[in-house]
Formats: sequence, structure tokens, C-alpha cells
Amino acid sequence: LQTRIPLPANKDELYVLSQNINNLLDRVENAIEREKQFTSDASHELRTPLAVIKGTMEVLIRKPRNQQEYEEKINFCITEVDRLNHMVDQLLLLARFENQKQNIKNESIYLNALVLDNLARFSEKIEAKKLTIKTNFTADYHLQSDNYLISIIVSNLISNAIKYTENNGEITIGLSQNSNAILLSVADNGIGISKIDLDKVFNSFYRSDSTNQAKIKGTGLGLSIVKRLCDLLKIEVSVSSELQVGTVFNLSFPLAKLK
Ligand code: ADP
Repeated sequence: LQTRIPLPANKDELYVLSQNINNLLDRVENAIEREKQFTSDASHELRTPLAVIKGTMEVLIRKPRNQQEYEEKINFCITEVDRLNHMVDQLLLLARFENQKQNIKNESIYLNALVLDNLARFSEKIEAKKLTIKTNFTADYHLQSDNYLISIIVSNLISNAIKYTENNGEITIGLSQNSNAILLSVADNGIGISKIDLDKVFNSFYRSDSTNQAKIKGTGLGLSIVKRLCDLLKIEVSVSSELQVGTVFNLSFPLAKLK
């Protein structure tokens, strides 16, 4: 808006200008609509567990229960509070990255080590579910980008692969390169995502039906953080999946565009 738009010299140019202004207005309206939707989804997602916690506690106060039932209900509340805490952390992350372009660091990153470090953080969960982890690194990969932000992307993908894979399943992390990009894939043989859900998994708060059926808890925010960070760092992210077969998330770090 700071650059001066030249005055249209004739009817045709005036028409083009009015079309451009219309497009711009549409984009602004859509952005406002998305913001409104996000705020309303966020308050719904925060209110629901709060109402459930309040309800559970009120029941406990009104009717004294036996010790076992009392502990079960308190533990349930603690789990919900943990989930709320996690959701607030994720919402804060999303808000922080909104206008973070100027703060992106340009550091040396050794991707192999970054992946292994992130895997190590999940070792307890991996052991508990008896998952097999395979790494398929065809070489040592090095790039310049923001170490912390790339770690958040990779750890979200690994965390999901663990969460949505049943006991004794398998997760394979691949690192390779073609002429244009370094490629990182996180593949699992877990519950998979249906075709209908596949387009929507990067939307904030979206959780697929199969996830709800399998009663796996989450916030629906992890992949929207992944998408937002990938956009910020100019990384391409894509997903392919088949129900009951497994899911692959692919990251492509374009060699030419990397910050
Ligand atoms: P959350 O895991 O907290 O629900 P995400 O934004 O990380 O939120 O993921 C959104 C949805 O995408 C999940 O609820 C799940 O339905 C689906 N999903 C993500 N990763 C996987 C995966 N590896 N396997 C199957 N489904 C997945």
C-alpha cells in the first residue's frame, strides 16, 4: 500500500485496477473470516474441557465417592488440565510465529543429528509402545536454517507417528536428496488418514474421524504449527496416507530457497 499505484490511463486499465482492488478486498475479508473462525474454534476447544473438569469436580463435591472412584475422577481432571496446558502452549506458539519473519535464525543444521536428538526425546514412549524405529539416511545432510523451528516441525511429525501407530508398529525416518532439495520423510504403519480427511489435517483444530474413534487424545494444532513454520521457512510439506495402512509426511527443503 506504500507504493503509489499509477492512475489508470483508460477504461481497460481502470477495469483491471478495479478487479485488483476487488481481489484484495476478497483476500482481506477471507483473512478476517479465518481469524474469526480461529478465535471461535479456540474458545470452543478451551471451554469444552473446562466445562468437563468443572462438572466432574462438582459431582465429586456433591456426592462423596469411594476412594477408587475419587482417584479416577481426579486423575481424569489432571489429564484434561495437562491437555489444556498443552493446547495453550501450542496456541502461544502459533501466535508467536505469526509475524516472526525477522527473527528467523540462519544457523548450520545437521539434519541427521537433529532427527536423532528428537527421536531420543521420545524414547520412553517408543519403548512403552514397543515400536521399531528405522532410520534410512542416505548421507549426512547439512543446511542453513533455524534449528529451533525445524526441531519443532520434526518433533511434531515424530510425535504424531508415535501417537497414531499401534503397539509393535514401525516408524521409518528417511533423509535423502534430489537435484533440487533435501528430503525428510516420517513414515508409519499406523491407523492412517482417510482421503476426505487428508486435505484438512493441516487446519487448526481438525482431528480425523478415525482419530476420534480410536479415542486418541490431541488438540488438532500440531500440524497447523508444522504448516505455518514450513511456510515461514520455505519448506514444502505434504502427506500421503491410507486408512489402516499408514501415513507418510514429506518435507522438502529446496536447496535454492533455504534461508
Ligand atoms: P493432534 O494430533 O493433536 O490431533 P495434529 O494437528 O498434529 O493434532 O493432527 C491433526 C490430525 O491429523 C490428527 O488428529 C489425526 O487425525 C491426523 N494425523 C496426524 N498425523 C497422523 C499420523 N501420523 N497418522 C494418522 N493420523 C494422523
